[in-house]
Amino acid sequence: MGKRSLALLLCLVLMLSLVACGPAEETAPKAEGIIRDSADVIVVGSGGAGMSAAVEVLRAGGSVIVVEKMPFVGGNTLLAASAFNAANPEEQRKQEMSPTMLTVIKDLIALEPVDEYMARWQDEIRADIEKYEAEGATYLYDSPALHKLQTYVGGDYVGNPKLIDVYGDKALESLQWLSELGVNWKEDITSAVGATWTRSHTPTDDWGSNGSSFVLPQKKFIEENGGKILLEHKAEELVVEDGKVVGVKGTTADGTPFELRGEKGVVLATGGFAANPEMREKYNKFWANAGPDVPTTNPSSSTGDGILMAEAVGANLVGMEWIQMVTFSDAAITAAIENSIQVNQAGERFVREDGRRDELCQAILEQEGGYCYRIYDAHTIVDLLDGISYKGVPIEDYVGNGAYMADTLEELAEQIGVPYDTLQKTVDEFNTYVEKGEDPFGRMLYDKKLEKGPYYAVKYRPHFHYTMGGVEINEKAQVLDKNGDIIPGLYAAGEVTGGVHGSNRLGGNATTDIIVFGRIAGQNIMK
Ligand code: ADP
Repeated sequence: MGKRSLALLLCLVLMLSLVACGPAEETAPKAEGIIRDSADVIVVGSGGAGMSAAVEVLRAGGSVIVVEKMPFVGGNTLLAASAFNAANPEEQRKQEMSPTMLTVIKDLIALEPVDEYMARWQDEIRADIEKYEAEGATYLYDSPALHKLQTYVGGDYVGNPKLIDVYGDKALESLQWLSELGVNWKEDITSAVGATWTRSHTPTDDWGSNGSSFVLPQKKFIEENGGKILLEHKAEELVVEDGKVVGVKGTTADGTPFELRGEKGVVLATGGFAANPEMREKYNKFWANAGPDVPTTNPSSSTGDGILMAEAVGANLVGMEWIQMVTFSDAAITAAIENSIQVNQAGERFVREDGRRDELCQAILEQEGGYCYRIYDAHTIVDLLDGISYKGVPIEDYVGNGAYMADTLEELAEQIGVPYDTLQKTVDEFNTYVEKGEDPFGRMLYDKKLEKGPYYAVKYRPHFHYTMGGVEINEKAQVLDKNGDIIPGLYAAGEVTGGVHGSNRLGGNATTDIIVFGRIAGQNIMK
């Protein structure tokens, strides 16, 4: 192992020790064989959504207990590539926008609106674009309205526009809130895979860029402000009294039952169900061959517990059939597709690389072997990312295990077993598209030409990644029952809920969702 690898490994170990808390028993009183405790609010789940809720409860002067079934905090959020989408016009203005991107905006505002929300967002963008063109501007345009419109259209109008409206309005504020908690960001605003716009903000830390950059500052805040985090406490049932949710019951890892009372109620933030094959099987209607053997990017904890607990007290579920697959590789690179291409075994491109994730997965599943190679050059891997994969591991350490590296394209082609002539032709053609800013697949995001060795190839396969559906909530993150009425005392936020992403979540939109609605849940439960 090289020196740099060792340093990064130490960083990873440090990161894991930071997300693990002290023994849970130290903080939870145990009596008569059952652990009982109480606080203003019980938060179930310590991913980005739960931690954000807990921070807001403490900020509002309340007391909070976070219950986490795993031996460490962070959940799926920890593994996120963690692009955070927010319209941040002041910063985005520093970057340029291609004429193709302007066409994309015009196409979006020319769509027939399906409701008053969409019409309003389109009107706002239309007015901005009139001014933009009158000025002869070329900077990267963005606005909350464009973020909302793309989220709604990208989710095939299945999402709830009321939630999307709040989501878009609170995105930048939540980014700033994270900055105040200590999150550092890379300067460049990019486009995460599947984001469809250049508005992805990437957190950065010594160990690279991943979701721990969100979770650790929140954990620190909670611990410094008197919040309790109980690890290895699995919540199993919501406690209801007189129609109001007043707490949770469950069992610790050593088999001790616990009952926690939340005077103001409970926030469910247990994440999605991408790691629960039975639930996937029950709800999936879209993917063929989506059996239990299909891999997931999620940790084993994403089993939909909160959805089942909420359902048991009458919650309505929405969008459960929408399960997202993404192309995934351990050697994945964070948030940089602008100068990479995707090729099949024949060395040919077959899809626009900046398209929707469902289209990307479907297209890859149709290629021989059901996988593809993403080809990068030194501009992305070395100049932008300093050779670090999204898990914080140097890309060289993945060489031979999902990643390939060679000084020339010819050597790279040989390594991945695709015909060099075709691959070279593909790259040459792509480089002409970079100049023109358009290609036959309809791709719109370009950066530099692929021409700077060393060259890299990373093998990608579709994996189950994100479950768009879940518990129905309103704009205050209150859980609704099957009649659309509020279930008193019950709030939910993050991937356990359905409604923002519709049928297809845009890349980089989930971290924004969990922070925005986690905060809203924490703020409202205290009101
Ligand atoms: P989100 O992105 O919505 O915040 P995450 O998947 O990041 O969701 O986090 C959800 C967290 O909830 C994970 O840490 C997971 O272990 C935890 N969790 C899931 N089910 C339970 C449960 N029954 N009891 C306690 N914690 C749970």
